[in-house]
Amino acid sequence: AAAQSTLHIAIIPTPGLGHLIPLTELIKQLSRRHNFSFTFLVPTDGSSTESQTSLLQSLPASIAHAFLPPVDLSDIPAGSHLLIRVILTLTRSIPALRDSLTTLTGSTRLVALIFDVLGSPALDLAGEFRVPAYIFYTCSAMNLCSAFCLPKLDLMYSCEYRDLPEPVHFFPGCVPVQGVDMVDPVQDKKNEAYKRILDVAKQYHKAAGILVNSFLNLEPAPFEALMQNGDGIPPIYPVGPLVRTGLEHGLAGLGCCLRWLDKQPSGSVLFVSFGSGGTLSSDQLTELAFGLEISGQRFLWVVRNPNDMSLSAAYFDPQLCSDPLQFLPNGFLDRTGELGLVVPSWAPQVQILSHSSTGGFLTHCGWNSILESIVHGVPLIAWPLYAEQRMNSVEVTEDWKVALRVKPNEKGIVEREQIAGYVSRLIEGWEGKAMRERMKVLQGAAEAALGNDGSSSKSRNEIAHILMTEGKSHESLNKI
Ligand code: UDP
Repeated sequence: AAAQSTLHIAIIPTPGLGHLIPLTELIKQLSRRHNFSFTFLVPTDGSSTESQTSLLQSLPASIAHAFLPPVDLSDIPAGSHLLIRVILTLTRSIPALRDSLTTLTGSTRLVALIFDVLGSPALDLAGEFRVPAYIFYTCSAMNLCSAFCLPKLDLMYSCEYRDLPEPVHFFPGCVPVQGVDMVDPVQDKKNEAYKRILDVAKQYHKAAGILVNSFLNLEPAPFEALMQNGDGIPPIYPVGPLVRTGLEHGLAGLGCCLRWLDKQPSGSVLFVSFGSGGTLSSDQLTELAFGLEISGQRFLWVVRNPNDMSLSAAYFDPQLCSDPLQFLPNGFLDRTGELGLVVPSWAPQVQILSHSSTGGFLTHCGWNSILESIVHGVPLIAWPLYAEQRMNSVEVTEDWKVALRVKPNEKGIVEREQIAGYVSRLIEGWEGKAMRERMKVLQGAAEAALGNDGSSSKSRNEIAHILMTEGKSHESLNKI
């Protein structure tokens, strides 16, 4: 009876720690302040679930989780776009999701489903259970603008977006974006991934609301455009920045990273990391190593095994590595031992960004990494690899001016002298200083948004109120 009296929400993430981490933060917030219970129903393709499991196990008792039976993806051609694997993992899990939701409705009072940014192909499930479906948009508001424009752009242009002579203006006031900087599944219209992302975008309007992991003062123009509710855009709730607070699965390297940082001068260290899934080619790894060495600056670098086929080789298993340090140039560790710390595969990013010795972050521009940098006031070197990271790079460099963006040569390699230049300019130069100051302003705005009367707290309370009311009306319906 106790379980029956609490309102229950089911959360359905798509693969990728970059989705699961902010989703768990949102749910922790809701569970702390409002009386709901939750179940994460996690679709999987059978690849390692270790990182997800340790994250989910660290959650409070009112937040349950269950992995759905692994789907079979053996028919997908090797080298298929990452997005296809992610979307098929979700859509092929729909029958199992339906079964789990049926079981949940037998034992709890289910009042809503929450999906992440790529969850829209399963939104119809909510209708079957007569509950509203919400999306937690784990990317920027700007990115959401681009998603709502995509069907229109698809009809307007027959060429590839990268061949457009002018940048695209998604909505008035949004920073213009070159076609080549739009999300990577739209970069090849003949690829199945393009059809899939278009399909994802076309279904967003079915959501009862979209919670965005961003805040009004960070992206005023994109939010204004979205909140005018034109073109069938559902209600938009800015609830961010929700960044990870727990230590879970950063623990391994924690002591060693923090002890090392403690010994470095304030603001002197560049943190180098490409998110949970990013990987570099062998040539690029070598170039980065020499770049850091030539710069003569202090660095803390999370190194992964290089991969010459994919920039997202670690996406389904971020901690997978044999011995990445063997791929570093000969003698690199000896030569840089005084100035650098190299950590294999995974580091406690939030703790590193919050340490006073950290003066800059060379990042792949995943949205969580950007939000974490804002929350801790750390300026950036933007080195986008895949997904929507190029578009995020445009915002940090051109809109907020808190980052230097790397320029690859015609072979796609960022060269060592260039890298050394970016690092010195960020850590020691006047540009870095100005960027740090602008980051501090964003940091203050983020704090304000999350304060008691802040815009994001208000949106979160509003959504909680709606869900509570939903639960009560459900109850009265059931009594009739
Ligand atoms: N992360 C971490 N340690 C690492 C790499 C990543 O703690 O070595 C965390 C990081 O703090 C962030 C998330 O993993 O919360 C990565 O999300 P992001 O959106 O930046 O990139 P993605 O992994 O989705 O590409």
